[in-house]
Amino acid sequence: MPTRLAQVGHHQEAKREASNAWVLLSTEEISVSADVIDGIAVASRILSDTAVRAAQFAEIAGRKPCLATVLVGDDPASHTYVRMKTNRCRTVGLESKSHRLSQTATTTEVVTLVARLARDITVDGILVQHPMPNQVDERQVFEAITPTKDVDGVTGASFAAMALGDKGFASCTPGGIMHLLDAYGVDPSGQRAVVVGRSPILGKPVGMLLLARDATVTYCHSKTADLPGVVSEADIVVTAVGRPELIKGNWIKAGAVVIDAGYNPGNVGDVEYSAAAQRARLITPVPGGVGPTTIAVLLAQTVDAAESAHSVA
Ligand code: NAP
Repeated sequence: MPTRLAQVGHHQEAKREASNAWVLLSTEEISVSADVIDGIAVASRILSDTAVRAAQFAEIAGRKPCLATVLVGDDPASHTYVRMKTNRCRTVGLESKSHRLSQTATTTEVVTLVARLARDITVDGILVQHPMPNQVDERQVFEAITPTKDVDGVTGASFAAMALGDKGFASCTPGGIMHLLDAYGVDPSGQRAVVVGRSPILGKPVGMLLLARDATVTYCHSKTADLPGVVSEADIVVTAVGRPELIKGNWIKAGAVVIDAGYNPGNVGDVEYSAAAQRARLITPVPGGVGPTTIAVLLAQTVDAAESAHSVA
């Protein structure tokens, strides 16, 4: 393996030959050790900014920005997530109002609660924790959220805004991923981005946000033929699958940016981290990468909603 002597753009490196001439190395010859994307630091910056804006809002409006949370059923992970979100509200200077419904709640009961929160002028943002129990029609519940309070970006209106590049709230994890790319100076324009996963809350919207920033986007999913081949062409890889280490390190193009949104038992992501870090230019760890930015975006968007509703900016 030749010594790396110079970096030429993102994907090309050069070595000095015996003849003293510079030659470009092929992708296979390059061994890069990635810089690690610090999601906790990026989230802290978003939260500090949010805290300042929340305090300014409180001074002008006479009350704190308020996030209402709705938790249906007994799923322990959902309880943990909602607790984390309400605790974080407190530390950043937001009010949170928690609402709980039983495991046997009907769609009508959940929709009625959400519709009431949508009318409540003291509530700025609404978060309905999902998944909900099987008997509840999640889509009907989400659509009861007024788009101006949809700080989790789950309504059809928010989805359309992301697709059209219009003003609206982003889904929080995709929004957090865009913050990570921006914080590390990754401009998606003209880059080949491959998104593995196409869920409505994560895979699809992150692809739309990348497209809005002029990336050339390919979606992969469980029926994709030749996943390794498609991933190996990506300048930016975003994984949103939920299968431990599905994406092998040797599929990653040298110099690529790897964003792993997957979270699997044992603190393992969707990407084979150590091997991928040998080839990538930038990579998110799991945990400490994408995860922390999700709550930060939720709170920032709650303050956005409060400011818009009260014409405070
Ligand atoms: P999901 O709704 O289950 O979607 C998973 C996606 O992965 C689907 O589109 C599925 O394809 C695709 N997939 C499954 N097996 C595949 C395979 N072998 N090859 C290629 N694609 C495959 O999951 P999600 O809600 O989007 O969540 C995905 C992951 O992100 C999970 O680990 C979750 O815990 C994590 N997550 C993290 C955060 C955060 O804040 N960091 C937030 C949300 C979710 P089909 O569409 O063909 O079935």
